[in-house]
Amino acid sequence: MRTILLIWFGVVGLVSVSLAQTQEEKIREYELQRQAADQRKLSVQMDSAILFSERGEYKRADDEFKVLLRAYKSIPSDLVYYFGRNSYHLGNYRQSIDWLNKYIQLKGTTGQFSEPAVEWLKLAEAEVLKQRQKQSQDAAQVLSQDYDIDCGPTGKVTCPVCKGSTVIIKKGYIEDTYRTCPYCNKHGYLECEQYNLLLRGELQPGRANP
Ligand SMILES: [Zn+2]
Repeated sequence: MRTILLIWFGVVGLVSVSLAQTQEEKIREYELQRQAADQRKLSVQMDSAILFSERGEYKRADDEFKVLLRAYKSIPSDLVYYFGRNSYHLGNYRQSIDWLNKYIQLKGTTGQFSEPAVEWLKLAEAEVLKQRQKQSQDAAQVLSQDYDIDCGPTGKVTCPVCKGSTVIIKKGYIEDTYRTCPYCNKHGYLECEQYNLLLRGELQPGRANP
């Protein structure tokens, strides 16, 4: 009797262990399937982003690449290359250099896109150099707008808008229309400060000589 009971418990035990295993396997399988589905979805999205980039729709591609960069926990090397190249076309040269360099670091010289990555990298670096030269040229330029013009001892200047007449004449087919000059407000002159604002395009009409 005892032997039979022992065998019975043994069988029940085995059955429950194998049930638990099946359950665990199912969960693992489901998890794997889910991961594979995610992977497929991301891969479809990546194809779409690459297609936009190839078609020259760089902004649209950029938006889609950024969605992918947020979604991926670890970024596929193809995406690293394409995002770098697309950034070049948008004029984001530093960003382009950063990602293309990353691709070359990842794949060395033997990657699928190693050669074009090096070519695009050279172009992006040339653009950054150009920008730097342009910036230093701009910095060296002396522009009149950075200076106030001295209006002389009176501190006043004849209003250049109405030439001191205080009216602005608009020629019409039948008759001319006359309008009070909105800059000098019937004075015909501007204070030096207002004059300098006018030269910089910062003088609001109707605010002068209140
Ligand atoms: Zn005026």
